[in-house]
Amino acid sequence: MALFVQKYGGTSVGTVERIEAVADKVKRFRDEGHDLVVVLSAMSGETNRLIGLAKAIQDEPCPREMDVLVSTGEQVTIALLCMALEKRGLSARSYTGGQVRILTDSAHTKARIQDIEVDGMRADLSAGRVVVVAGFQGMDAKGNITTLGRGGSDTTGVALAAALKADECQIYTDVDGVYTTDPRVVEGATRLDRITFEEMLEMASLGSKILQIRSVEFAGKYKVPLRVLSSFVDGPGTLITIEDEDTVEKPVISGIAFNRDEAKLTVIGVPDIPGVASRILGPISRANIEVDMIVQNVAADKTTDFTFTVHRNDFVKAEAILRQVCAELGAREVVGNNKIAKVSIVGVGMRSHAGVATKMFDSLAQDNINIQMISTSEIKVSVVIAEKYLELAVRGLHSAFELDKADTVSE
Ligand code: ADP
Ligand code: ASP
Ligand code: MG
Repeated sequence: MALFVQKYGGTSVGTVERIEAVADKVKRFRDEGHDLVVVLSAMSGETNRLIGLAKAIQDEPCPREMDVLVSTGEQVTIALLCMALEKRGLSARSYTGGQVRILTDSAHTKARIQDIEVDGMRADLSAGRVVVVAGFQGMDAKGNITTLGRGGSDTTGVALAAALKADECQIYTDVDGVYTTDPRVVEGATRLDRITFEEMLEMASLGSKILQIRSVEFAGKYKVPLRVLSSFVDGPGTLITIEDEDTVEKPVISGIAFNRDEAKLTVIGVPDIPGVASRILGPISRANIEVDMIVQNVAADKTTDFTFTVHRNDFVKAEAILRQVCAELGAREVVGNNKIAKVSIVGVGMRSHAGVATKMFDSLAQDNINIQMISTSEIKVSVVIAEKYLELAVRGLHSAFELDKADTVSE
């Protein structure tokens, strides 16, 4: 008998029929004698619908009120699931994040979990109840409702599993595991039996929206056994593991991630003197705009070009700031492009293999795709390309690194 925390995403609870199917699944686990804490998302599309309502009133609604609004989606699904469980003769109780006492900081719309009270949940479990918790939400020290950022129910699931020392945190979604790349883009993508926390963290940070980044960080930090599975079909899913020394012959590349949410800005003809980077990026960070890649060209004529990428939503704001900075610095001009995408190859095997980046560049060259920016770390290589070539690039790389084959993971 084990304690599982199971998180079901939006499509898994998208209709009453899907909620009934989740209830059947939960009943099967209960019949096998397991204790269950179930974390739910809102019905698919609901959070976007709520955000749409807010934006119809105000361009930038007050973050506190946004949290009061968007946290309602999860309250609907937890109640409905409890009803479906009761119908099946199971005892169940639903709780909002605040009721559990998932305590967070006060950073509305992107709050971080600070503490979780487990006594109430333990009492329910001992009384034979299924505990059903609204994902994505918590409460700050003053009792305000907070939310954890898009995709935040994953983090609720992992955090509850850590706090309860659950035997496994199972993330049920609409695909049957973590794939070599988004199976919606590459048909030949293959499911991985295992992936390391480190790789999963890179994949999530570089754009694979299968798991929220923070949930992977949390799982790594508290060593929560984490598995991604389908709520639609049975199967082993993908286990996110601590790096396994015994794993012989790891593939060099485990996966390919991509992100369409980026935009690129260049200040051309910047005087090549100390302090320029700080004078360009200072006002950007003070405007709360996050910068991702940064490239500065070698100066030829005592001036240089300074390029960086930001989230596409921040493009217009960043461009306006740069025009002012450009004038102050006496730089030539600012050019921007918001039709770019970032493609990254990820794998711990890169540490022990040379020539990985070259192979990536060769594959892009063969498809006649121009690389606009490059950045590397120990286990990833990322490139910025024109957005229109994204699918072509990902498919080309997927076959260049032989990820189409079924033998991507060996134990
Ligand atoms: P949920 O609503 O269950 O949280 P998400 O839409 O957040 O589900 O995440 C599941 C989706 O993630 C899949 O439908 C898939 O298109 C996408 N995805 C992106 N990258 C990958 C990957 N490497 N492996 C599997 N799915 C991926
Ligand atoms: N409902 C929230 C969202 O759509 C949280 C989640 O599904 O994880 O982002
Ligand atoms: Mg999700």
